[in-house]
Formats: sequence, structure tokens, C-alpha cells
Amino acid sequence: MLRFDNRLVRETPGEENPAPHSHQVLGALWSPVWPTPASNPRLVAYSREMAHELGLANDEITSWDWVAVLAGNALLPGMATYATCYGGHQFGSWARQLGDGRAIFLGEAVNGEGRRYELQLKGAGTTPYSRHADGRAVMRSSIREFLCSEAMHHLGVPTTRALSLVATGDAVVRDMFYDGHPVQEPGAIVCRVAPSFLRFGHFELPASRGDEDLLRRIVDFTLTRDFPEFADDGEERIARWFGEVCERTARLVVDWTRVGFVHGVMNTDNMSILGLTIDYGPYGWLEDFDPAWTPNTTDADGRRYCFARQPEIARWNLERLAEALSVVAAEASEVTSQLNRYNETYSREFQRVFAAKFGFSAWRESDSTLLERAFELMQAAEADMTLFFRHLADVDVGTPSVIALQEAFYDDERLAAHTEALAQWLHDWATRIRSQDEPAANRIARMNAVNPRYVLRNYLAQQAIERAENGDPHMIWELLDVLRHPYDDQPGRESFAARRPEWARHKAGCSMLSCSS
Ligand code: AMP
Ligand code: MG
Repeated sequence: MLRFDNRLVRETPGEENPAPHSHQVLGALWSPVWPTPASNPRLVAYSREMAHELGLANDEITSWDWVAVLAGNALLPGMATYATCYGGHQFGSWARQLGDGRAIFLGEAVNGEGRRYELQLKGAGTTPYSRHADGRAVMRSSIREFLCSEAMHHLGVPTTRALSLVATGDAVVRDMFYDGHPVQEPGAIVCRVAPSFLRFGHFELPASRGDEDLLRRIVDFTLTRDFPEFADDGEERIARWFGEVCERTARLVVDWTRVGFVHGVMNTDNMSILGLTIDYGPYGWLEDFDPAWTPNTTDADGRRYCFARQPEIARWNLERLAEALSVVAAEASEVTSQLNRYNETYSREFQRVFAAKFGFSAWRESDSTLLERAFELMQAAEADMTLFFRHLADVDVGTPSVIALQEAFYDDERLAAHTEALAQWLHDWATRIRSQDEPAANRIARMNAVNPRYVLRNYLAQQAIERAENGDPHMIWELLDVLRHPYDDQPGRESFAARRPEWARHKAGCSMLSCSS
């Protein structure tokens, strides 16, 4: 039996008499709300790792009692249901109140080891924050969130988790590309799990309203529950804690860069205070190495959230958080001065992680040039990022040859045009590697531990979606399984590591995604 200990509702102000419809919520962090039952729920998939972390056995999570909970049709003793209030900067502009428009908390579960997990149903019906939307989620976006959460976890990238994927049996109407073609789609609910779902926007909203009292209470709450190591730091606790948030965010963005992940909607309401990847919407994985690539069609013109700009945008978002926290910090300048820690951590971690990706035992100043040339060539010759790095470990540093990397390239002509430059680069890289005087096996193990063989390629997720929508969920299960061991070679599963096929290059759902979900 899972134990619940609902600190957020106990220790922070909630709405006393919430109106049932959408409204502005003042002076409160959360509103009580109940999930809307699903008409015909069915468990499509679950994460056994997440279930076991919570102390749930396989036959427990698949039992009708639990499936009813995961569909929003029943509650277990001790659960509390609520939605939280936050704001955010969307695409660079202040968007005022947003809030959990379709995420409903089930409370805070505490496992056998005393670890705390907030549980949240995404797509379980409207809340006071739904504005004009339906509080529901479609199967395609739910499959994407479910699979990617777990894939990121196994890649070692900080992330919110996904416990389950339930089909509701109810249709949801969406106009996928906002072009006047709404269709009925199958609805679904993901049960998300994280130690804390607090976002930058939870702090920005009360700051923007001048509600210092509420802001102070939310800050003190997250300090005591989520960052107890800073709670006793007296006057300086807010600045020190913010410095930690800067560091975690820097590490997160380096990890995204390492695995070629593009979040797609880095609004401040989608930034976790714990430095987790949160809100999987129109995200994507870099295939051909194009730093300006964004999966989000809504962002196609501005490219604010493209791969290359993620580090700069994370810093911009932290600046907005710093402004909010400055309202209640003892000394505003002490908060803003912590922003340097973002840049310092980012540079240090980038060097450490990319040294490992390229096989260097430690970073040397002169490595920057080698990296820049590699990135230029990967783009010019259209190399698949994941395959390029993975196969770099296969190159014989005694007689380096482009042949070992051939599988990574999308276009024969573009490869031919750059083969000479690539060979020169490989020669310089091999010289750099040989200067380390280290057994090859050590270096290769180091590279393979940070260069995944398997990532959730956009077209693979899309194939799993199309099959599931036609009634066959097997590919979801198979992808979940392959992505459990992203750094291992898995004989017989080479096709999941292959280059994106040509048909998927410009296909909706594979390279282009909208925010409609
Ligand atoms: P997102 O773009 O998914 O980060 O969402 C931005 C805001 O819109 C958040 O406040 C969401 O809760 C809300 N939202 C998105 N989709 C829906 C929906 N179908 N129903 C209610 N609220 C939604
Ligand atoms: Mg969001």
C-alpha cells in the first residue's frame, strides 16, 4: 500500500472556495480539483522501473484498482487532488496566469526508503487553469511524453518520469496544425512522477502580482521540502539556493546537448526548479546535425528554441527567475550575481562531457578548434549526430578512415564533397587521441558511456503512435525496452539505431510537430 504525505497542500495556501470554471487565482498556490472520469479506461503501457521505485509490484499496477486511479476514475486512501497556479514567459513575453490546465495532482507518495514523489495525471480533465481548453490530452502526445520521459531517465538525463499510459476511451478534438482541420483523436492520460513539479513560473506569477507574502511562502516551502540543504542558510538562503538552480539548469542543458535533444518549448513555465526536463511537447532529437533545427512548427520562424540556442535561452529563463526571487531576497544583487554560476557550470560541464564524447581523457584548451571543425563538418556533410559520435569510437586511430563513419551520413553527394576535409579532421583527431597514451579499450568505454547507440528517434515514436492508433501497442513496449539500455549494443535491434529513413525527413510528426496535444 502506497503511503501519501501531502505536504504541498498542508504547508502552502490553497483556494478556499474555488469556482468550477476557469478564473484568476489570487493568494493561493493551488486549487482543489477532481479528475473527470474516463469512460472506458485501458492500461496501454507502464514503466516497471518507476512502479518498482514506488514499491508497486507488476500485478498491483496492472490491477483494475490501480488502472482506475491512473485514469482519474478512483482515488486511493491518502491521496489529495489539486492543480497548481503558475505563470510564465512564453516565447519571450510575459503570459500572466497559466497553471495546471490539464494536470491534476494525486498527492505526494512516499516510498519504502522515504523518498517523496508527486504524482500527476496529465489529461484528466479541466481545472481552474484550463482557460478555453478541454483539460485532455491525445494519445499521440501522451505516447511521446511516456516514452521520452523513460528514455531520458535511462540516458541519465534529469527528467520527470512517467508511470503509466492509459487510453481513456474518449475522443478528443484537435486541429493538429491549426489550419482549420479539427479531427477526433483518441484521448489518453499519462501519470507523471517527480519529486517536485514546481516551475520557474510558480515564482514569477506572485512576483508579477506583487504578492510578496505568497511568494515568500512558496520559496520557504520549496526550500524546506525540495532543498533542505539551503533552508538554514539564514538571510542568504534564497541566493544560495538560486545558485544551485543555476547549476542544475546548466547541467541539464549540457546533457540535452550531449544526447541531441531539443525541448521545443523552453518557456519559463516549462522550466523545472529541480533542473529536470519537464513538459514533453513538440520536442525532437537532432538527426542530421543542424544547430538551427527546431521540431516546433510554431517556432519555425523565430527559432528561439532551436538546438543551438538552448543554452542561451536557459540563461534568459534563469534571469526571469532571478527577477522574481529578487522581490523577496535579502539583497537582490546577491541573487543576480549567482547567474554567473550558470555560465561557469555550463562551460565546465560542456568541456567535461564533450571531452568524453570525443574520447579525450581530459579537456585541453586547443580542443575547442577540433570541436568547432567537427561541428562544421557534421553539418556540411549532413551527419547523423547520434551515429557520428557512436561510430567515432570505431575509428582505428592508427589508420583513421572515414569508412568507419559512413553509416552516419545522409547524402552521398554531400559526403563526397567533404570526404577530404573529414579525413583531415580524423587525422588530427587521431593524433590528439594518440597523444593521450592510453589503452584503446579505456577510451572506447568512456565514449560509449556518453554517446548513446539508441535515442527516441522522431520517426520511431511516430511509427509507434500510428500503430497504437490502429490498435497495436507492441511498438510502444518494444521501444520502451530498447531504450532501457541506450548505451548497449543490442544485437537484433540494429534497426532502432539506424539513420532516419528518407520518407521521414519532412513528414509531420517526424520532423515537424505542433504544440497541439
Ligand atoms: P504547454 O504549452 O503544454 O506548456 O501549456 C501551456 C499552458 O496551457 C499550461 O497552462 C497548460 O496547462 C495549458 N494547456 C495546454 N493544453 C491544454 C488543454 N488541452 N487543456 C487545458 N489546458 C491546457
Ligand atoms: Mg507546459
